[in-house]
Amino acid sequence: MKNTKYKRIMLKLSGESLAGENGYGIDFNVTKRVAEEIKEIVDMGIEVGAVVGGGNIWRGRQGQDMDRTTADYMGMLATCINAMALQDSLESIGVYTRVQTAIEMKQIAEPFIRRRAMRHLEKGRVVIFGAGTGNPYFSTDTTAALRAAEIEADVILLAKKVDGVYDKDPHKFADAVKFDNLNYMDVLEKGLQVMDSTATSLCMDNEIPILVFGLDAPGNIRKAVLGEKIGTLVSK
Ligand code: UDP
Repeated sequence: MKNTKYKRIMLKLSGESLAGENGYGIDFNVTKRVAEEIKEIVDMGIEVGAVVGGGNIWRGRQGQDMDRTTADYMGMLATCINAMALQDSLESIGVYTRVQTAIEMKQIAEPFIRRRAMRHLEKGRVVIFGAGTGNPYFSTDTTAALRAAEIEADVILLAKKVDGVYDKDPHKFADAVKFDNLNYMDVLEKGLQVMDSTATSLCMDNEIPILVFGLDAPGNIRKAVLGEKIGTLVSK
């Protein structure tokens, strides 16, 4: 095994990142590229858990005239569609995977069982966690934090469209400054766009570092696990 900074990681992919340029749905060129990058680190001996969002298909807050819980359950189902797409792309290049869902759908995925997830990881299988936490009013960022704590991941790799955390929106402000390091309190107090506050607090309480980085630049997942300086590291 290579000399990597992390042994077991939790990769969080937003739904938006899977949509590619389309902004909606799944771009299989993206899932294939991400799968290749995941394969690279699996081949290095890294154990990989992954949480996928659902925003490319449905977010609970889109259902303004709907019952909130129904809208959120629709969002959780959207994450399962993405999980299966990522699984397919990984399997097509020979990476062993399991999808585990927080809402039972046993014809298509295993239910989330922590000990089983740990065993899969130890055997080198990528475990993709679908259906969020299984509860409305939560997000897939919180899912990533929760599952990271449960599987004892060394870090959450938070793949984004932007290449780190800035003091203001870099798409709107040319003078936006990128942070190399932050602590959890900075994120919460300054209201920085890293994760929602529930997810950030969970990481803070359990001392799980979060590396925010851009998914668009190829090779970043490998660089992240090797400890190369990319993105923004949020830690104690
Ligand atoms: N969701 C939920 N509980 C969870 C995780 C997700 O209710 O534990 C719902 C929620 O409606 C959310 C949607 O699923 O808007 C999609 O997840 P998210 O918005 O986190 O996806 P992302 O922004 O990462 O694509």
